[in-house]
Amino acid sequence: MKFFNTLTRKEEVISTLEPEHLKMYVCGPTVYDRPHIGNARSAVIYDILFRLACVVFPKVTYVRNITDVDDKINVAAKEQGISIQSLTKRITEFFYADMDALNILRPTYEPRATEHIVEMIMMIEQLISSGHAYISGGHVLFDVTSYNDYGILSNRHIDEMIAGARVEVAEYKKHPLDFVLWKPADNEDDISSIFASPWGNGRPGWHIECSAMSSKYLGADFDIHGGGADLQFPHHENEIAQSRCANPNSHFARFWIHNGFLTVNGEKMSKSLKNFVTVRDLLDKGVYGSVIRYLLLSTHYRKPLDFNEKALADAQMAMEKFHNSVLSAKCPMFSVPNIIIECLSDDLNISKVIAELHRMAKHNEKEELMAALSFLGLFDAQFFSKKSNSDIDEEYINSQIAIRLKYKQERNFTKADEVRQELVGRGVVLEDVADGKTVWKII
Ligand SMILES: [Zn+2]
Repeated sequence: MKFFNTLTRKEEVISTLEPEHLKMYVCGPTVYDRPHIGNARSAVIYDILFRLACVVFPKVTYVRNITDVDDKINVAAKEQGISIQSLTKRITEFFYADMDALNILRPTYEPRATEHIVEMIMMIEQLISSGHAYISGGHVLFDVTSYNDYGILSNRHIDEMIAGARVEVAEYKKHPLDFVLWKPADNEDDISSIFASPWGNGRPGWHIECSAMSSKYLGADFDIHGGGADLQFPHHENEIAQSRCANPNSHFARFWIHNGFLTVNGEKMSKSLKNFVTVRDLLDKGVYGSVIRYLLLSTHYRKPLDFNEKALADAQMAMEKFHNSVLSAKCPMFSVPNIIIECLSDDLNISKVIAELHRMAKHNEKEELMAALSFLGLFDAQFFSKKSNSDIDEEYINSQIAIRLKYKQERNFTKADEVRQELVGRGVVLEDVADGKTVWKII
């Protein structure tokens, strides 16, 4: 597997630290709202990477966290007048329902932030004792000037980062880029978002979650870390700083993979622009999960993807074409064609994969196409039920039965059988019953 590594800014062959065991971590959802299609794009891309890794490496451990403590969650729960626990429980259920509809496999581990507060506190204590963090105004902050390589992932100097980012200026910070490891509780906070710590009651910062949970499940050093390009700075930069400082001999993740942005009709998706599209919105409109999945995969993962009606119609058409092609595939071939693995191993070269699918459809390579679609998570039985339902025209079937009967009466059994066979091709089986009558059923 050869991928573009954001950390080194070049394509590299993915190797594993532990022989034959790939360890990867991907930043998961903050459960305050239903997944939108931008979240879904990231989930689908890392699902393909996971499926590919499972073919290439004998063992794969894939960790994707669930952020269930966050300011956004507190705000959303307050707005809706419900407890934080009932909000995070409900949104987590929505998340799984939507991910299942997109045929996204469950990672090996899905740690929740609220169940790992102890690990976060331990990491923060290490950072304080080694001089990388300080306590100020009830907060614990990471001191970015204590770490020389801060900016290594974004390849930017601290001054450029201050200019380029919306940095929260606060009087308790020594440096504008210092970020929160622990923040004090507000008097109005819901009790379920307040945790005890050596620095008083409060909650962890977002960045420390991923550092603490990845090291618990994968160790201080692991292979791949993935996420959306929008997480590169400050989130991933901060993860690197915390993890390397808390474990001085470690490099944290060696390969960093980032997926591109998603726009809707050429614009950034936002609630204020009213162009916010959730996975559920599309499913409720009758769009198949597999069509959404295809659409989200069809642009190279590092490029921006524009979601619009035409892209959706194109995805629908391609999926119909592929499913029509495999309609009468015989004994499914269970191993995925090598060419698909080769294309994906080349920095997820999806345009080559799609060209291969079209080539297989064109050359009537039904079994190969079916195996490729299954591997990509795109094989969808719904297409067949739709096809058989929409194709059944009772009037036509009855007229064919009458024609067949006429041939039989003329003792032209060859012609009669041709009529029967033609109906089988449309998924309709005839059965001769008593009194010379014929009934039919759908296969
Ligand atoms: Zn993260």
